[in-house]
Amino acid sequence: MRIDILTLFPEMCNTVMNESIIGRAQKSGKVEIVCTNIRDFAGNKHNKVDDMPYGGGMGMVMAAQPIYDCFKNIYAPNEPKPHLVYLSPKGAKFTQQKAVELSKLDRLVLLCGHYEGVDQRVLDEIVDEEISIGDYVLTGGELPALVVADAVCRMLPGVLSDDLCFTDESHFNGLLEYPQYTRPAVWNEKPVPSILLSGDHKKIEEWRKCKSILTTIDKRPDMLSQSDIDEKDKKLLEKYKDLI
Ligand code: SAM
Repeated sequence: MRIDILTLFPEMCNTVMNESIIGRAQKSGKVEIVCTNIRDFAGNKHNKVDDMPYGGGMGMVMAAQPIYDCFKNIYAPNEPKPHLVYLSPKGAKFTQQKAVELSKLDRLVLLCGHYEGVDQRVLDEIVDEEISIGDYVLTGGELPALVVADAVCRMLPGVLSDDLCFTDESHFNGLLEYPQYTRPAVWNEKPVPSILLSGDHKKIEEWRKCKSILTTIDKRPDMLSQSDIDEKDKKLLEKYKDLI
């Protein structure tokens, strides 16, 4: 998969995307991330990419033409138009399901706005969908683009060591993850739950499912209406009630 980030701050994006798991995924060719500076397409001698809003008001608005030219530059005229997401507080809220959906694309383009936003006419021309990372306003689309790119990359085959790394995680199946523990077995007089040391994989799996359901009930009861807890799960909760 190739992910393009169109931004006024490509170094900010490269710095994050070249580190850790995503950096290694790029080096091993599992994903290609290309950050392009919209300012390179300013088309004027002062490299100006923004202007005052028509109708008055605060701040500056990113002009249509540099963004349009920047986008047109990242694919050949005979290639299909890549799917373009504009990061925006007006967009649909980003979810794990959306990350899975976007990870199935061959190409994904993430457009970062800045200042007061972007001239609506170029958005109408090139944007396929708008995504928000939450109901608050940031100074630019770079952090949201990095959030989306990271979540999408983790879903690509081979980026994590095993699919279980994400299919078991919070939000993948409508529940939150069970609690995790590592060595030492006793820390600050607190022992690890004994079942995790039992070596009985079936019991561990069942205990984790129970913990996952209970964690969701405790922290995010709003998620339960979307999850598929059934009679079998209720029996499990009964079976492990003394251990959870
Ligand atoms: N004036 C805009 C409004 O009220 O909707 C906000 C503009 S914001 C200061 C500048 C840029 O940051 C936006 O164009 C967008 O790309 C990005 N941005 C800010 N908050 C965001 C969020 N919650 N999710 C995604 N992108 C966001």
